[in-house]
Amino acid sequence: MTQETRKFEAEVAQVLHLVTHSLYSHKEIFLRELISNASDACDKLRFEGLEQPELLVDDPDLRIQVSWDPEARTVSVRDNGVGMSREEVVANIGTIASSGTRRYLEAMSGEKKADARLIGQFGVGFYSAFVVADRVTVLTRRAGSAENEGVRWESDGKGEYTLDQADVPTRGTTVILHLKADEDEFLQPWTLRSTITRYSDHVAFPIRFPKDVDGKPDPSEWETINSASALWARPKSEISDEEYQSFYKALGHDFNDALAWTHNRVEGSQSFTTLLYVPAQPPFDLMMGGRDERKGLKLYIKRVFIMDAAEELLPNYLRFVRGVVDADDLPLNVSREILQQKRQLERIRGACVKRVLDLLEKLSRDDAEKFTTFLNAFGNTLKEGIVEDTANRERIAKLLRFASTKGEGAGKTVSFDDYIGRMHVGQDVIWYVTADSYAAAAGSPQLEALKAKGVEVLLMFDRVDEWMLGYLNEYAGKRLQNVSKGEFPLDEADKAKQSAATEAAEPLLGRIKTLLDGRVGDVLVSARLTDSPSCLALADYEMAPHLARMLREAGQDVPEARPTLEINPEHALVKRLGAETDDAKAADLAGLLLEQAEITAGAQLNDPAAFVQRMNRVLLG
Ligand code: ADP
Ligand code: MG
Repeated sequence: MTQETRKFEAEVAQVLHLVTHSLYSHKEIFLRELISNASDACDKLRFEGLEQPELLVDDPDLRIQVSWDPEARTVSVRDNGVGMSREEVVANIGTIASSGTRRYLEAMSGEKKADARLIGQFGVGFYSAFVVADRVTVLTRRAGSAENEGVRWESDGKGEYTLDQADVPTRGTTVILHLKADEDEFLQPWTLRSTITRYSDHVAFPIRFPKDVDGKPDPSEWETINSASALWARPKSEISDEEYQSFYKALGHDFNDALAWTHNRVEGSQSFTTLLYVPAQPPFDLMMGGRDERKGLKLYIKRVFIMDAAEELLPNYLRFVRGVVDADDLPLNVSREILQQKRQLERIRGACVKRVLDLLEKLSRDDAEKFTTFLNAFGNTLKEGIVEDTANRERIAKLLRFASTKGEGAGKTVSFDDYIGRMHVGQDVIWYVTADSYAAAAGSPQLEALKAKGVEVLLMFDRVDEWMLGYLNEYAGKRLQNVSKGEFPLDEADKAKQSAATEAAEPLLGRIKTLLDGRVGDVLVSARLTDSPSCLALADYEMAPHLARMLREAGQDVPEARPTLEINPEHALVKRLGAETDDAKAADLAGLLLEQAEITAGAQLNDPAAFVQRMNRVLLG
């Protein structure tokens, strides 16, 4: 086929524009990304070679070569991996925007530009070549195809690229970067070499670098400059923390150290190795809810990379984990479909979950600071496990931390165990309140009576809490109870007081109900209140008002419920209403009792204008 020029899809062009204009720091990551692609290509060929050994016979030693040319001002990264056909070039680095392209663009709009260097996490790492190059040439030949079936791809990263048939003498891919005028530092062999050892030491294939003769490469003498071994396959005792961290950074395309890791070998009827990391910060993908293609956990079988298998090996709520699983006993020709049915896989998956939960428990015990970092980054993700992983529900719940009426401020959190340790004699439930912010939770009128008695209430105000609590009915044998829901348990003394108060308020309750004219299901004397005049009470099955509002705002159909209004007969406002003889004025007061209860519950006022008018009439007397 002849030469053709094609346009990048708009989104790819945008990524290129972003990349060329915003990656000021850590320009050297292009090298890590290209080497990572070269290593992936070698992995893919080794995998294909399992079924088609003939692809590898003439040149079985997979390797990566990095070189430079001071005269041509180029840097090149070459691999003898799987290579690409013309169609593959177009699909993988050409016209078509991947889902990663879109996510990258979304993440990079706004204030996150400084972190454009996380490009590799989005699966668009190839384009980082344009950080330092104003022209990139790719020469590639698919393993198994003929010399004259090679492809030459070239682009200046400005919106178009050319595609050409080319003679490529050996299989694999060479990426040639024509450096921008001010990027001469990458023509320094020392810079290249130290960047490679810094970022790519743990690439499992040898990275070869030519001998440097007065700044020029000697193509007859190559040296391997990385450790080129599978880190996870070495004994723990021989691996330093630095090595673990640098492996993590290459694996996770991350710049920060991992927060913690767990490295284990299981021997027995089924043998496998797991090396699992917890990052210190959420990758962008996670923050953006990128659930579609989960990467981050690589499955190897006897050191041969098989596939990204995060979804098969980890439940969704542990999607922040990065790492490697290397199994000895799975058949090498395993496919994704087969994998999903494998009983062995269940065991490995179970082991991964156990290891991660063990690790998190250890952190929570031994390193409060790191554990807080973890919770800030992934605490809400972990909560999904309460719903998703029933078998480990109690273990997960043990790790969670919540604000509480006994803590100071949103930042000071407690565990369920802390809570239970402080429970009053005779208290048999764990009290909590849900709201959409710390202030709204801490200020809920429903928890006044408990507060007055010194009973602790957990304050739940994360988006996932309400959903999670729908599945978490008890912890360590103690029931979880929403302060706004159901009948409020009272001791005998309180009960007597309450029924006396109810009896005394009977006519008032009836009057308020009439004045509110169908807006409430019932009006009761509250046992929950001490300071506020009114609050809403919910039936056990009813949805919290703030949640109903959020769902409506998100465009969902939520049926209107007629709430139960609870009043505090001791409150001056309620007394005033009781004494009010003018029905219009009494109706205003009753309306305000209901509306302030709705506001503190985070509900949306049905008629805000009517509320304001009512309030103004009352204020002006
Ligand atoms: P990712 O590596 O996360 O898929 P990249 O932008 O780095 O994203 O690369 C895009 C795709 O281009 C790769 O998935 C691969 O299909 C193809 N590719 C890039 N470099 C090579 C290479 N050296 N050999 C073969 N294919 C490659
Ligand atoms: Mg890549």
